[in-house]
Order: sequence, then structure tokens, then C-alpha cells
Amino acid sequence: MLEFSMTVGGRKVAGQERFAITNPATGVMVGYAPNASLDDLEAAVAAAKSAFPTWAALPDDQRQAACTALAGRLNERAEAIAQVLTQEQGKPLNGLGSRFEMGGAQAWAGYTASLSLPVKVLQDDNTGRIELHRKPIGVVGSITPWNWPVMIAIWHILPALRAGNCVVIKPSPYTPLSTLMAVDAMAELLPAGVLNVVSSDDKLANIGAAMAAHPDIRKLVFTGSCATGERIMATASQTMKRLTLEMGGNDAGIVLPDCDPKAIAEGLFWGAFINNGQTCAAMKRLYVHDAIHDAVCDEMVAFARKIPVGNGMDEASILGPIANQMQFDKVSRLVADAAQTGRVLLGGAPDEGLFFPITLVADLPDDAPLIVEEQFGPALPIIRFTDLDQAIAAANNSDNGLGGSVWSADRARARDIALQLDCGSAWVNRHGAIQPNAPFGGTKRSGMGREFGEEGLFEMTEMQTLFC
Ligand code: NAD
Repeated sequence: MLEFSMTVGGRKVAGQERFAITNPATGVMVGYAPNASLDDLEAAVAAAKSAFPTWAALPDDQRQAACTALAGRLNERAEAIAQVLTQEQGKPLNGLGSRFEMGGAQAWAGYTASLSLPVKVLQDDNTGRIELHRKPIGVVGSITPWNWPVMIAIWHILPALRAGNCVVIKPSPYTPLSTLMAVDAMAELLPAGVLNVVSSDDKLANIGAAMAAHPDIRKLVFTGSCATGERIMATASQTMKRLTLEMGGNDAGIVLPDCDPKAIAEGLFWGAFINNGQTCAAMKRLYVHDAIHDAVCDEMVAFARKIPVGNGMDEASILGPIANQMQFDKVSRLVADAAQTGRVLLGGAPDEGLFFPITLVADLPDDAPLIVEEQFGPALPIIRFTDLDQAIAAANNSDNGLGGSVWSADRARARDIALQLDCGSAWVNRHGAIQPNAPFGGTKRSGMGREFGEEGLFEMTEMQTLFC
């Protein structure tokens, strides 16, 4: 069995207690994660705080070189981490699974390392000079979910470090092992205390809640559910902590009648079922014009039937199990309800263990829980529409606003419609595409702030306006 430790102040820390992580595909134990106490968190925050002045004062090119080296280190360790990621999370090694996730982590790390924060001169004339500086904030706390644990950790860590902050990260209790490995590998290349990780089962102590309250964590970046994000925001107000919150989504796709159903079926499928639907900006509601509704349903069923679902360690698997019992129960509840009120086209009932078949359901009432709630799993409602304005209104009739898409042979028209969607990212003829240089985040209850690109880097800074 592999040994996993926390990294605190440059040291490997086992913690006084530990908790077991099992493979969702088999139920077999993968390894133990250290179960952090509040003292462990204190030690991590203190280490980050004491490392901060030196790290922040490092010449920018040296900090950039260190961040670039982290991308290289992820590349060296990618396969080893991918193997553990598949075993703790369930996603396959292949397809859009663990190796893909490690590739994304490297791409984001490399791109983020290449960014810089030049001083902006706002005015320089005979009345005076005004400069805008972007300075690091201090200790940045990072709290991550279980769906893309390594990639999201990199989305938090790299911009924070690049801007000159020090980091304490806490991964999800479901998937701590790959993050412990990735941080262990990266922290070796950094001064002690610059990057720290504490893992927790959320039961021995609620480390996430303690981070939200901690006075020495000056900024928190959180990716997870809306309910937890709202709790964090309430707690963070007491210390006026800076926040970036990336929360849930209930993204709609709208398919216009001029589409070729066969040509778009693959894109629609992966827009919804990437990572078994356990993706914040996956398509979670599909609105299809009546003229091609039945043909789109048929093509999606035909495409879905070709996807091999199985143990992620099997090189042939393209989708795996649902990642944990909590999520499996949620998907099972929503699909059981949908099977009563709608027409199941494919799947519709749980398989063995945590495996759930790809499920497509049509003809649901508008208030069906599978449409209204975020399913975060392999089940997609397909909704018929005749009036485009009503479809746009239905797409926007959600507390969430992470992403949305419009599908049409007429790109210009689709673009105009996409601009009417109330969400942070909108796509034409695809869904869920993200890039390191394109800001990403949500409107409404999907969060606040943006990650990626220069705008994401800015979120890891305080502005100082200098009249000189
Ligand atoms: P979650 O909110 O249950 O947990 C997320 C993290 O918060 C975990 O590390 C957990 O330990 C921690 N946490 C739990 N209680 C806490 C508290 N009181 N204070 C602080 N932290 C606490 O979410 P999840 O189930 O891990 O993730 C699924 C959700 O994440 C979905 O809603 C999904 O849409 C969302 N998500 C959003 C994005 C995005 O970028 N917008 C990306 C991935 C996932």
C-alpha cells in the first residue's frame, strides 16, 4: 500500500490519525490519508505565513522560473499520479480521464507560470505620475472538490504562487491522495512553507470551516457546492477575507432546428457526460427544437451505446463509476423520480456497486427535479421546445449561471442567442470548453470571481495605487 503524507513547512507529516480511501469501482482500499487536526492546520498556516515575506520579495523572474519548474515536475509524475487518481476517483485512465486531467494540470501550470503582473501606469504627465501595482495578498487557502481534484488544485495553487502568495490547500475527503502526491512533488522544488497541504475527513475536525474562519488566511479560493460556498462566504465576512468561489452549475444547451442531429450527437454527448457528468460546467439540461427533437434523441442514444463503461484501471474503459456513495444516491433519487414522470430513452436504473448507466430521459415536466436540480452525474434530461424565446427563458430560469450553449448551423445567430444566456461562459456548437487563457466562473449562485488568464491572476492580488 502506498504511503501518503501531508506537507507542512517543507516536512512530510503523517498526522495523528488517518482515514481510508476506497476505489469506487471495486470497493477495494486504495490507501490511507492523514486526518488533520486543527493543530495541523495551525502549523500549515503558520508555515505559509512565515514563508510569505521571502517568497513575495523574490525577484519576479525567479518566482516565474520556480512556477515553470512545477509544471515540469507535474509532467514527470503524471502517470504515477494518474494511477492513484483513477483508483480514488473512479475516472478511467484513458479517454477524458486521469491522464487527460494530468495533461490539463500541466497545461494550466505552464500557462499560468508564463503570466506576469506588470505595473500599470495610469497617468504620467506634468501634474504627476500614478502607478497601479498588483501585490500578493499573503496566505491563500484553497478548498477543492472530488471531481477534478488535481486539475482544480492546480487552478488554485499556480496563480496564487505566481502572484507571490503562499498556499495551504485542503482537498476533498473523497479524493485527497492525488493532491497529496502532487503537492509533495511540487513542494520539493519550493522553499519550505510556500506550499502546504492538509487532508481531512471533515469529521475529526472541519478543516474547511476552520480555514474560512482563520484570521491569517487572507484569501480563500473554493470550488465545490453552492451550499458550502455560501457557508464560507458568511464565515469569511468576519475577517473580510478575499474570496473566489466556483460553485455548482445547471447548464442548459439549446439546439436550433437547423442542426444535423447526427453531426452534433458526439459534441452534445461529451458536453453532458464528460467525467460521467460530474463536471461543474457540464450540460445538465438539453433543450431541443421539436422539429429535430426525436432525431437528436435517437442519435444520442446510438452514440451513448458505443461508450464502454467499466473499471477505470481497465485501459478500454471510457467512463467509470460514480465517484462516491453520496453522489450515487443523489443521481439515483433524481433518476428514479424522472423514470416516473418522463420517458426513459436509455439507462434509468443503477447497476452494480457505484456504476450507473448512461441515462437519457425525455418528456419530463418542467419542474422535474432532474431538470431543476444539479444532478452531477450520468443522467441528462432532453426537453422539447417550439418557441425559442421560451427556451432561452427556461435556460435562464435557474439559480445557477455557470455555462450555457447554443447549437446551430448559423453561427452568427447562435452567437447572438448565446449572448442572451445569463452565465459566465457561453459556447456555440460545443459545451464546457475551457482554456488557461480564458476567464472562467459563474453568475448568480454559481459563484463570484473568475479563474484563469490574467483576470484569474488578478484575483490573487491586492491593488495598490501609487501616487509618486
Ligand atoms: P462540497 O461543497 O461538498 O465540498 C467541496 C469542499 O468543501 C471539500 O473539500 C469539502 O471538504 C469542503 N467543505 C465541506 N464543508 C465545508 C465547510 N463548512 N467550510 C469549508 N469547506 C467545507 O462539494 P463537492 O461535492 O466536493 O463538489 C461538487 C460540487 O462542486 C458541485 O456542485 C459542482 O458543480 C461543484 N464544482 C464547481 C466547479 C466550478 O468551477 N464552478 C468545479 C468543480 C465542481
